[in-house]
Amino acid sequence: MTNHDTRHIETLAVHAGRMPDPTTGAVMPPIHLATNYERDATGACPRGFEYTREGNPNRQALETSLAVLEGGAAAACFASGNAAAAAVFQALTPAQHVVIAQDTYYGTAVLLKDIFAAWALEATFVDATDPEAIAAAMRPQTALVWVETPSNPLLSVVDIARAAAIAHAHGARLVVENTLGTPVLQRPFEFGADLVVHSTTKFLGGHSDVLGGVVVTKVADEFFQRLRRIQVIGGAVPSPFDCWLLQRSLKTLPCRVRAQSETALKVARFLATHKRVERVLYPGLPEHPGYLTAKKQMSGFGGVLSFTLKEGAAAAKALPSRTRIFTHATSIGGVESLIEHRASAEGPDTRAPQNLVRLSIGLEHPDDLIADLAQALGEVPQPEPKPVFPGGRLLRTPGTP
Ligand SMILES: *Cc1c(COP(=O)(O)O)cnc(C)c1O
Repeated sequence: MTNHDTRHIETLAVHAGRMPDPTTGAVMPPIHLATNYERDATGACPRGFEYTREGNPNRQALETSLAVLEGGAAAACFASGNAAAAAVFQALTPAQHVVIAQDTYYGTAVLLKDIFAAWALEATFVDATDPEAIAAAMRPQTALVWVETPSNPLLSVVDIARAAAIAHAHGARLVVENTLGTPVLQRPFEFGADLVVHSTTKFLGGHSDVLGGVVVTKVADEFFQRLRRIQVIGGAVPSPFDCWLLQRSLKTLPCRVRAQSETALKVARFLATHKRVERVLYPGLPEHPGYLTAKKQMSGFGGVLSFTLKEGAAAAKALPSRTRIFTHATSIGGVESLIEHRASAEGPDTRAPQNLVRLSIGLEHPDDLIADLAQALGEVPQPEPKPVFPGGRLLRTPGTP
């Protein structure tokens, strides 16, 4: 199986990187917990595994699956999305320069501002929705352009092909964070990206029970060899069980993401007509400034959306505790829908407006999710207040109106 496999993504999601276990015939792979592997009489490790930080059968299989799904040459998996991003920055040398979209995951910005600045890696934050702003920030030392599209939580859309053209004209690499798009809806390598990064904790994991990150490379070049070295020597590797769980989740990725994306569009359309909603941030709505670009480079608009409330911060902070199906919790990409006041989660440096609420759409029926938001926004009369445990925790009673 090559990584330019022309079979459809549904087929690749089920089969890439997988085969029955050669020793037992088990259709599902075993989890290899061993930290070390036996040598032969010559002192070599004939099956290619020596020590699990350097390589493990579950991680190798997962990396093959992810490289094939993104259409890249190779992948390196990490213990979290942030560890994957950190590895990319570590692969640069001091005094190199990064141009990065101001609308990226706040953790990525914190990495650059709080940690890598001390290592003399300079970063310029730009409005990457404007290609001229990217071009204006390029310097001779710029080694990397980093964009996230759609971005979390503001859903801004960057034209990947134009960002790639600018990066390449200056001899820099383009990194695309594809956590919200996923390889199901967006194929950054086809638009010129050199590296694709994911927090696999989100849609790729899909069940809110495994933390991880990945860097996929279009070509297995020297830069990727540095990344691989940072992975195995730095040691921020995922456990065999985490790799196994994630590879299991990938099989249903295309079905999950398409359903989540279709439901998100319905929810976005509902919110756009609601009298309490000021603005809906979702690239699938024609009034979104990134709509045409998203249409060009995505086959669906994803399962995350945000909206702002006319009544301001207090209303936005109160809303998440009024939903009954949406769980009031951070993160995105799981099969259960989530709601969060994003500025509270990000803290004082947030770029999220104080009246913004972020939704992650799961696999529930769209009508139920819309009804839940309608009641939370106060369109239908409120039922009895929710019962409260003595400790003050709300008791959720799913299914009650
Ligand atoms: C969650 C997230 C991250 C960070 O990933 P972790 O797995 O939490 O370290 C990075 N980028 C985006 C877009 C995210 O949503």
